[in-house]
Amino acid sequence: MGERTVLVVEDEEAIAEAVCRRLESEGYRVLVACDGPEALRLHERERPDLVVLDLMLPGMDGLEVCERIQRDRWTPVLMLTARTEETDKVAGFGAGADDYLTKPFSLRELAVRVRAILRRIERIEERRERSGPIERQGLRIDPARRRVEVDGSNVAFTPLEFEILLTLAREPGVVFSRDELMERVWGYRDFAGGRVVDSHVARIRRKLNEDGNDPRFIRTVHGVGYAFKE
Ligand code: CA
Repeated sequence: MGERTVLVVEDEEAIAEAVCRRLESEGYRVLVACDGPEALRLHERERPDLVVLDLMLPGMDGLEVCERIQRDRWTPVLMLTARTEETDKVAGFGAGADDYLTKPFSLRELAVRVRAILRRIERIEERRERSGPIERQGLRIDPARRRVEVDGSNVAFTPLEFEILLTLAREPGVVFSRDELMERVWGYRDFAGGRVVDSHVARIRRKLNEDGNDPRFIRTVHGVGYAFKE
């Protein structure tokens, strides 16, 4: 893998500068945008490997920027929020961020998360060729091509969503706690982990056209986590 590019979207100059310096010292090429439109322009032009995105931006807020980034060309997003409750709310909204970091955060923690997400996605993409397709109740998951078909139609998943679905579908009936999924898919655990997992599972279910009351594929085990239906 060559040099990785990280786009930092933050309107507070002091934070932007500190984040930028830290990530540069870790060997990343860093681009900085101070508002949404500039972020979208840089994302389109420079194709960063990851976006660190502040929620509170003047004009277009972080949620909208995140949604547009995910729509145009998927890139992992690490969202910066002010408080845990805000993280919960934003995660519930499901704009598609791959992780959240609550302000104030340490630069060390930020660097750890950035590295973990990039490494995880790299690993998911490298592992493509190994295993054969899995077929369950009209759902076909092909790890080699990283394709998912529901009743014969192709559905697009992000690498982390794909990894969650594959993890669950490989072992039908096995209940995975949110912490376990967080650790398996993201490679670490953290306090907001449950919310992040829930928001990803909600997106997966939407894409699979799941019926909330009678899911065909992913069952919620209340107070515990998720299991693929047997
Ligand atoms: Ca801000």
